[in-house]
Amino acid sequence: MSCFEPNARIDMEPRAPLKTPAERKNGKPVKQNDIPPQGVYLPNNNFMAPHMKSPDYVQLSNAAAITLGIMGGRMHRTSCTRCLNLLLTYPEGCRANCAYCGLARHREADRDYADRNFIRVDWPAVPMAEIIDIVAKDTANSPFHRMCISMITHPRSEDDTFTVLKQWTDKIDPDEIPVSILSNPTTMSRADVQKTKDLGADIFTVALDAATPEVFDRTRGKGVQSPHKWSRYWDIMLDAKDIFGPQKFGAHIIVGMGETESEVLHLVQDLVDLGGHSHMFCFFPEQGSLMDHLPATPRDQWRRVQLARYLIDYRDVRVEQMRFDELGQVKHYGIADAELSDIIEQGIAFRTSGCPGKFQDDISACDRPYGDSPPSNIASYPFQPEKKDIRKIRKQLDIPVRVE
Ligand code: SF4
Repeated sequence: MSCFEPNARIDMEPRAPLKTPAERKNGKPVKQNDIPPQGVYLPNNNFMAPHMKSPDYVQLSNAAAITLGIMGGRMHRTSCTRCLNLLLTYPEGCRANCAYCGLARHREADRDYADRNFIRVDWPAVPMAEIIDIVAKDTANSPFHRMCISMITHPRSEDDTFTVLKQWTDKIDPDEIPVSILSNPTTMSRADVQKTKDLGADIFTVALDAATPEVFDRTRGKGVQSPHKWSRYWDIMLDAKDIFGPQKFGAHIIVGMGETESEVLHLVQDLVDLGGHSHMFCFFPEQGSLMDHLPATPRDQWRRVQLARYLIDYRDVRVEQMRFDELGQVKHYGIADAELSDIIEQGIAFRTSGCPGKFQDDISACDRPYGDSPPSNIASYPFQPEKKDIRKIRKQLDIPVRVE
């Protein structure tokens, strides 16, 4: 029996975006300054430099900045991240308004772009040349197994992605540290997808984020005055399938924004049938977003989806072999109990999912430490879960502890 009510469709309604005062629109407070940027910018320094923008500057995840040695700090039970996550940056910020996102346009009312939290952490802004210099010094021994460029919705996003990618591949062999693109389909063409491949990108992903067209419209389309369209995202993903080929494209999906377990797992199956992968995030309300009043995904719901997704993506189990109840919750995973127990015990299913690194295909380089949960109640494990973690996971799954 489920311990919690799942995040049901009806309860996951974003609040409406408020009107932004004219004096805060389009990064105006930053752009009316003329202060030149000065090296690394740590969020909330309130140093408003309008030229601190891509392609010369990018923002880095906290974990990447700590791993790179640009910022001090420690992470709970892990010492580094294996993915160098970069985010394009502009004083005007992202022009979309996705309800769950800390970078959304409506936030210009109260926070300058470089100071906005995203996936629950701050993103320092750093000169791209400085990042490349540090990594290029010793690529063979770099802690990073992959680099990823996250595009945002901005008129310069494509051109600047090409420039950042070229700067990287000019100095760093993409066979040594492969590059992923987290794309913004709304402003991209098929030719743009091809260009990222020609410039050396290895994997192309689409941040579908929502698991159904209805959740998509409600959280990142017309429901929140945002420009994205489900059909456009699929068009670009299918272009990526043709251009990048099998196992080299995929979609990000956030679990718990009102879809059922059956719906999200059918989407996972569709992606596998196309030859791609799904990279999953547990919904974790971002402060300042239009969904910050809503509950995080209950752990039992998340664990069932995490486990079933792993079976579909890496163990050749099909969604049709699984059984669901009338609420769409997983009731049977489609394989024998003993085999399921072994897979739970291995723990890989509960690690962060994403583009692979150098360990093995089903272990993501992109480990996003604590991007979708607090360390006290981990959703995606950024490290190999230990015995005590597996015991907790089994409880959350309501699958009794294995008797040896
Ligand atoms: S397009 Fe991406 S960065 Fe922009 S608001 Fe939506 S999720 Fe956030």
